[in-house]
Amino acid sequence: MFSNISNLFKKIFGSRNDRLLKQYQVLVNNINNMEHIISELSDIELRSKTEKFRNYHASGNSIDDLLPEAFAVVREASKRVYGMRHFDVQLLGGIALHNGKIAEMRTGEGKTLTATLPVYLNAITGKGVHVVTVNDYLARRDAEWMGKLYNFLGLSVGVILSQQTSDEKKKAYLADITYGTNNEFGFDYLRDNMEYILENKRQRSLNYAIVDEVDSILIDEARTPLIISGSFEDSSDLYIKINKIPSLLVRMKNEPDQYGNEVSGDFWIDEKNQQVYLSEHGHEKVENILKEKGLLKNGVSLYDYNNVYLINHVLSALRAWNLFFRDRHYVVQEDEVIIVDEFTGRLMTGRRWSDGLHQAIEAKEGVNVQSENQTLASITFQNYFRMYSKLSGMTGTADTEAFEFQEIYNLETIVIPTNKPMIRIDENDHIYRTDAEKYEAIIVDISECYKRSQPVLVGTPNIESSEYLSKLLKKQGLKHNVLNAKNHDNEAMIVAEAGKPGSITIATNMAGRGTDIVLGGNIDRLISDILKNTKSSDAEKNKYVYEIREEWKSINELVKKSGGLRIIGTERHESRRIDNQLRGRSGRQGDPGSSCFYLSLDDQLMRIFAGDKLRYIIDHLKLPYGEAIKSGMVDRAIESAQHKVESRNFDIRKQLLEYDNISNEQRNIIYSQRNEVLESDSLIGFIDEMFKDVICNIFREYVPIDSVPDQWNIIDLQKRIESEFQSNINISNLLDNSSSNEFDLLDSLHKKLMFIYNEKRSLIKTSYTNVERLFLLQSIDYHWREHLSRLEYLRQGIHLRGYAQKNPKQEYKREAFEYFSVMLDKIRHDIVRNLMMIDVGLNNNLESDIFDKNDSNKKFNKIRRNEACPCGSSKKYKHCHGSLS
Ligand code: ADP
Ligand code: MG
Repeated sequence: MFSNISNLFKKIFGSRNDRLLKQYQVLVNNINNMEHIISELSDIELRSKTEKFRNYHASGNSIDDLLPEAFAVVREASKRVYGMRHFDVQLLGGIALHNGKIAEMRTGEGKTLTATLPVYLNAITGKGVHVVTVNDYLARRDAEWMGKLYNFLGLSVGVILSQQTSDEKKKAYLADITYGTNNEFGFDYLRDNMEYILENKRQRSLNYAIVDEVDSILIDEARTPLIISGSFEDSSDLYIKINKIPSLLVRMKNEPDQYGNEVSGDFWIDEKNQQVYLSEHGHEKVENILKEKGLLKNGVSLYDYNNVYLINHVLSALRAWNLFFRDRHYVVQEDEVIIVDEFTGRLMTGRRWSDGLHQAIEAKEGVNVQSENQTLASITFQNYFRMYSKLSGMTGTADTEAFEFQEIYNLETIVIPTNKPMIRIDENDHIYRTDAEKYEAIIVDISECYKRSQPVLVGTPNIESSEYLSKLLKKQGLKHNVLNAKNHDNEAMIVAEAGKPGSITIATNMAGRGTDIVLGGNIDRLISDILKNTKSSDAEKNKYVYEIREEWKSINELVKKSGGLRIIGTERHESRRIDNQLRGRSGRQGDPGSSCFYLSLDDQLMRIFAGDKLRYIIDHLKLPYGEAIKSGMVDRAIESAQHKVESRNFDIRKQLLEYDNISNEQRNIIYSQRNEVLESDSLIGFIDEMFKDVICNIFREYVPIDSVPDQWNIIDLQKRIESEFQSNINISNLLDNSSSNEFDLLDSLHKKLMFIYNEKRSLIKTSYTNVERLFLLQSIDYHWREHLSRLEYLRQGIHLRGYAQKNPKQEYKREAFEYFSVMLDKIRHDIVRNLMMIDVGLNNNLESDIFDKNDSNKKFNKIRRNEACPCGSSKKYKHCHGSLS
């Protein structure tokens, strides 16, 4: 089905390709016509064009108008800096990239240099251009290499690498042009959205990206999302210690009465809401126990923002002991606590309760407390790259995936013709019955190449098979290099030598993208290596370089005569693109070359996807030992097997994307709110709104909408407000003052709490906004993380819904939305409660305390809640100025 559409698409696509190329050719002609004028300019005049272009753009014009001249300038600069003149096909590619398309350009066509054209033009805007590569090595190589050209024209270049500090990153992002890998760009985006201070953000807005090897990044890697997971604190110790606390606390028979006259005890249980609350007495007791256990430092309050998490732990432990029971809510099997679904009674293996409850239950049951590797943030590459205002890409192998690029990314693929005609000979596959026969044939092929002095690159599917083949070659006494993940340090050297006469190189897919194998060996590398190690005069050096070049030319000729680079594949990959990448190492820029794949019925792809049909044919042909089939029909059978795998993988990616789209919407909401919090000068407006929301929610539990005063449960409301916000508001008083209208009452309750809160704020001399900001961000982040794990569990379990004749995706969408709105409520609730609970009066240095978390030497002059109030009233602090109401 998919392949049919794809073929149909290609038919339409073919002619459109020609039409677009014709359009672009007009521009290419314009560029060429300017060459004689531009080439007359001095270096300084050439560079001054950059300023001229910037001014043109700054006065409101589009950079599109500048394309011909800007491209002509870049080409001229390249001639002067590298002695390389962009080929016309590279201009075509550059135009496609500027137009936000995918340029398919064969290996060796010079995509690195092609990219300089649109990079320069788009950097004129000053909004930043990102060039995305598949690995750090290429990012650094290309930034350094092409940086010479950009600097020549007065543009700055940065490169982001994984080991850099945020400051280095920030500087690199501020450059006109930034090189880096897809992972690093994506991770920086996620990291930025976890920052607590605006200045710490690294990236600017995402303007324009050129993705090199775009199929690798947007298709192959798109199957797994980017995930930043928690530094995965192992807090099992903490859970085990806190697990001892519930047995030391006394449960209250009744809840405290409306006058706060506590029936003695430490905590009470709200079974309906599955919650546990600590009494005032309980709080003090817990504080003391925690100090005894060394979990809370002396002189530090449990109400400190740093320690609020400890209360949460204690509450989880209390819930574990008092609300969750074995063989009812969960079972214990093989050292694990497994939830029992309350609706179906089925075990929900692999799912976990959040908020530390699951760990608290594990501690209670004495089983292994699992440390959670929590997802802090995640995004798919699809959704990351779709955020750029303009996106483009280049690769040698896009055509087979043109349909997906169009559908998922809305990116059109344009096939750019090669500079010189391709003369590489791609042989039909050789198919053997067994692996043994296959490898015998491969060895014969390799040794024949060696005898002819033809260099050969052998592609193997994995490290294991590369080592196996290496062993076979050693037995034959054939000298060779092995390139795989185990010895990637030698990569540059191995690649530089791979084109020398008689050179044998065995490689995994590592030798795919970006490697440039030059017939006769990499002359530029050779020269720079030699120059590095000689101290002779310039004249001598020049003579020496000339001699080397002459010698190299004859070697290059020799290799060409031997047939150019031979490519041997020892297995076919699931994806045709990967095979084509391997083939593409040969035949660059009109070089001679050949390629052949050796297969056997034992290969994985053959066994799973093409086995039966081929086995039948081979049996039918009664093939003698060592004989291979080579026929177009067989090749087509294999291609169709690859098609099958490709379309299955397409479905997987599409599925992933469909799920990620749901969290993507939510992520955008959270991140944009987070940014607002990060960027606002004052947060009191936000906070007021949240108070209103939270109080209204609580209020409505006790005072139903459209109710009469008889239905109001003021006593419980009072208790709830007290325990949630640690403040004694006399609601009856409020009631007397308001016209016994529920709305008025709600309003005055809100005002009263805001009043209390503002009093608290005014106790702090320095700006309180940063403290509030921190609270807001921490709470948003915490709940967002929890939400992400919950979504993960939901997704893992959702396919089971299929049995109940429900559409899993719809179900997921519905529940994810519900979770999200519950999460928003929780965030608001948390923020309000924590803001009300914090003892600001105790710590005037709260802000610096927060930002100097690690500075433990600092001593704060704190007043304990039970100490005498410093005002001299001889009351306890908590009943005087420390009273929160
Ligand atoms: P690709 O990424 O398309 O496979 P590269 O960018 O690695 O190709 O370039 C391959 C080789 O071609 C490099 O050695 C480069 O220096 C050379 N090259 C590219 N463009 C030109 C040009 N216009 N003139 C001469 N050499 C070029
Ligand atoms: Mg390349």
